[in-house]
Amino acid sequence: MTGQPGEDYREISFDDRMDGTEFRVSERAHITVDTEVCDSCTVRSCLHVCPAKLFVPRADGGILFNFEQCFECGACYQVCDAEGAITWTYPDGGLGVVFRKG
Ligand code: SF4
Ligand code: SF4
Repeated sequence: MTGQPGEDYREISFDDRMDGTEFRVSERAHITVDTEVCDSCTVRSCLHVCPAKLFVPRADGGILFNFEQCFECGACYQVCDAEGAITWTYPDGGLGVVFRKG
């Protein structure tokens, strides 16, 4: 079991954390990425900062992005310096990540 009172969160494995996490996926993407802007980006901060690894480099140098398993942390939006690359909102009410399911 995870998430018990007094439990040290640093001792909880990524897999155990994901077992307790549910994603209620909306049809509307709450984050969109303008990959044409990404084509000229050399920093690629999003690759390193996203805890869910939702930004994936393509073989042709571009970026792939999937919103479905987003933790809604906002880190990608904070670190991206390229204007217009990321459009960020929260998912519609009742949808998105649920950290303690059940
Ligand atoms: S999302 Fe931002 S940081 Fe990531 S590749 Fe695109 S422009 Fe660069
Ligand atoms: S909000 Fe967080 S989890 Fe979602 S795509 Fe951005 S960095 Fe990744």
